[in-house]
This record gives sequence, C-alpha cells and structure tokens, in this order.
Amino acid sequence: MPRCETAGILGAVAGVMGTMQATEVLKELLGLGDSLSGRLTLYDALAAETRIVRLKRDPECPTCGSARPRCKP
Ligand SMILES: [Zn+2]
Repeated sequence: MPRCETAGILGAVAGVMGTMQATEVLKELLGLGDSLSGRLTLYDALAAETRIVRLKRDPECPTCGSARPRCKP
C-alpha cells in the first residue's frame, strides 16, 4: 500500500477528522460527554473502523508532563 506522502489521502477523510476534532473541542468547552483526554482515536476509513487507545503521560513532555512550565496566577 502506498504511503500518504506519495499517494495522498481521500479528501473526505480530512473532513471526517476535522469534524471529530471540532466536536471534541466543543465537548471540552461546554463540559459535555466523555473527554478524550489521555486517549487517542485511530480511524481506519478503508476498514470503516474506529479504535480508541489509552496514552501514558510523558513526565518530560512540555505540554502534559510534570516538567511543564506553570502559569503565574
Ligand atoms: Zn504530552
């Protein structure tokens, strides 16, 4: 199977992913439903399958790790 960088992607897949991301942002802002925080959604359009995996927090990550810079109050 060719790689995305050589074969491109189905344009509709970008739309599906963008819509899913926008939905998750709205859920977080409005406090609705279950958060995807700490989880990753994998979408296989060719197989019509979605899978969610848990991610471990990286303590060295500047965004979510314990070493992240703190905002001053
Ligand atoms: Zn992180």
